[in-house]
Amino acid sequence: MEPFVYQPISTRVIFGRGAVGRIKDEAERLGARRALVLSTPGRGEALARQVAGLLGERSAGIHAGAVMHTPVEATERALKVVMDRSADAVIAVGGGSTTGLGKAIALRTDLPQIVLPTTYAGSEVTPVLGETQGGVKTTQKSPKILPEVVIYDVDLTMELPVPVAATSGMNAIAHAVEALYAKDGNPIASLMGGHRRIRSCPAAARGGPAQIEPRSEALYGAWLCGQVLGMVGMALHHKLCHVLGGAFDLPHAQTHSVLLPHSAAYNAPAAREAMARAARGLGADDAPKALFDLAGRLGAKRSLRELGMPEGGIERAVETTMAAPYWNPRPLDPVAIRNLLVRAWNGEPPDSGP
Ligand code: NAD
Repeated sequence: MEPFVYQPISTRVIFGRGAVGRIKDEAERLGARRALVLSTPGRGEALARQVAGLLGERSAGIHAGAVMHTPVEATERALKVVMDRSADAVIAVGGGSTTGLGKAIALRTDLPQIVLPTTYAGSEVTPVLGETQGGVKTTQKSPKILPEVVIYDVDLTMELPVPVAATSGMNAIAHAVEALYAKDGNPIASLMGGHRRIRSCPAAARGGPAQIEPRSEALYGAWLCGQVLGMVGMALHHKLCHVLGGAFDLPHAQTHSVLLPHSAAYNAPAAREAMARAARGLGADDAPKALFDLAGRLGAKRSLRELGMPEGGIERAVETTMAAPYWNPRPLDPVAIRNLLVRAWNGEPPDSGP
């Protein structure tokens, strides 16, 4: 057996329908007297109000100012609210954008965090924060970033629109796939990443918004996928998503969904065992092709062009990727990465090679 290092994620996880009702007890357990509830504007704000209502006198109100890719300007605005209201904890109710804001605040203040995820991004169980400044998204790891408590309540996800659920599920699968070939991988991460339940993440989209069971399964799958993301380092696929998200403000989960078949195909020759395992998890023979077909069946966009990336941006993306690369099982070849991006931009199937 290969030697390995295993560092469990220490976040307290509460999973179950109606678990949002435990929010006040959990805040009390953390010693929070004035928790600021975070969300994105719009529908997320209504969920935040619901949570603030449950907190009662332990609420410091809501701040619906989370923005995708965690721009530092949004964090600075939120920090002012934290100070003005003397908040002593943050509660993120929403997807990865809201979780990201809570993490950015915690990194700077060390305030405790509770997260109530409403997508399958998985950020809630990672000590990783990606922040954007001047069109560049950089990630960092710190124990301060890891949330103390996560409450998974399927009721909070029931209004997640079907197309968002689909690509968010693909985002979750991306964590699992990259964990299978990670440099610092371990058997527990592989068990979770290869778990058949990862299939259930995008399957939730098919169940439709009225289906409690598929969405519960998806939430459980998202937790597994988030855990592996938190445990091991990510490679080319996540690097490309960060580069494109930061440079062109592309929607995060949809970018994962478009790129994953291509980055899996790029790495397949150098990670055959991992790809075979991913294929088994997906119930298919060829993982890159299965991922491309799955995105198609879910009705997700399959080209970067449709996401709004300018074709002229491909060169810049290659340069930024090569300038600060992540470790990757297959050496980074700028010509091959350009080809990968051209195929993804056009919406062509992944190049599985000879
Ligand atoms: P998101 O949080 O922006 O949510 C997507 C959209 O869905 C938003 O418009 C949001 O308002 C809406 N929405 C969310 N939940 C809803 C619900 N229950 N009902 C109705 N609408 C709902 O997107 P995301 O894909 O979850 O997160 C993307 C962000 O998360 C990116 O910034 C990414 O970098 C970050 N992320 C970080 C990590 C990490 O470990 N650091 C992991 C994954 C993602």
